[in-house]
Amino acid sequence: MKLFLASGILLAMATLSLRAAELNVAALARDPNVARSTEWLAHNLAWITELQIHLNEIPAPEFSEAARGAALRKIFEVSGLKTHVDSIGNVIGERPGTHPDDVILLAAHLDTVFPAGTDVKVKRNGSRLEAPGIADNGAGLAALVAISRALEEGQVRTGMTIIFAGDVGEEGEGNLRGIRALVETYRTRLRAVIAVDGAATDYITTQGLASRRIEAVVTGPGGHSWSDFGAPNPITAISRGIVKFSAITVPDSPRTSFNFGIIEGGTSVNSIPNRAAVKVDLRSEDDAQLTRLEAALREAIQSGVNEEMAAQRGASQLEATFSSLGVRPSGKLAENSDLLAAITSVDAFLSNPSRRERSSTDANVPLSLGIPAIAIGGGGLGGGSHSLDEWYETTDRLLGLKRILLTTLLIARTAS
Ligand SMILES: [Zn+2]
Repeated sequence: MKLFLASGILLAMATLSLRAAELNVAALARDPNVARSTEWLAHNLAWITELQIHLNEIPAPEFSEAARGAALRKIFEVSGLKTHVDSIGNVIGERPGTHPDDVILLAAHLDTVFPAGTDVKVKRNGSRLEAPGIADNGAGLAALVAISRALEEGQVRTGMTIIFAGDVGEEGEGNLRGIRALVETYRTRLRAVIAVDGAATDYITTQGLASRRIEAVVTGPGGHSWSDFGAPNPITAISRGIVKFSAITVPDSPRTSFNFGIIEGGTSVNSIPNRAAVKVDLRSEDDAQLTRLEAALREAIQSGVNEEMAAQRGASQLEATFSSLGVRPSGKLAENSDLLAAITSVDAFLSNPSRRERSSTDANVPLSLGIPAIAIGGGGLGGGSHSLDEWYETTDRLLGLKRILLTTLLIARTAS
């Protein structure tokens, strides 16, 4: 009975505070400067799409984001931002607030998973854009460009300083080095981080998914395929290891996954290779599972090496070594955080149903340090992420842009 009453009161309180927050969003959206900003967005969707295409067609493989970054910087300057590029290549545009000791960071990663030479030219088919990277993270970069320009056009003044950043090293082996540096730079002033990653409006990433990326290398003497036949083969050894590891079961809950993403080795068809390597991505909702998986991976590869040596004639040896390509920390946004209240109220105000989810994004880093952070999409729809068939649909982009704008301003607060 008591319990019922208590939960009833809690429910009423939650409803009340949500209502209050919804009212705040409505009042914020009615503010003449904010209204001018959202109107500007509504009337300039074609321009935003043009810039998304422009940025996407400048290749930005991991560790080679500078050219795309330079183009983003120019666009930031047109939006009236104070820009600079930090020592690792993050492109930073600052919109000073009246309380510069408080900072909100809007970050979108510049890099793509596609290697140099990938055709990133955008094919247009009505409102549908097709190109590698066009959604992840063309949509995120377009949103940053759009929001910064809209604030300028609406002459919106904020309490907090807003930092817009195109960051490097989010994908693959970048190991989140861009966002790590940004968080380090603004650490003491950083009140919230919004990572804009990919398309969509239907999710709020409030939890960081932990991951470990590992390279396993097997080396041996190598030799001639005929005259040295019998020497152990690193490719065969690593393949044995992969098969062994793949046979292990991973739990559905906590959800856990693994992927052998790149395998390489050998120099010619008639040589026994002296080296083989494989890169593995391990992910889990639980760090303990990652520790277990990493140990199992080492054991499986070593056991593949032992088997290969036992199967061969002669005394030559293989050696397995392991190195870490990256560790992504996990973290969770507090239930009572202002940032969660802000995005939830904005979604209610915009009648946008959204669900919370866990994933591996730039938000992992601030979340792991207890700094409020979310990752959300830049609006529109996207698919085929990390594939050559990636696509982006511009319809409904405006909803995503309004969502980011209003959430940012609820946290940054408008100032007169
Ligand atoms: Zn992304």
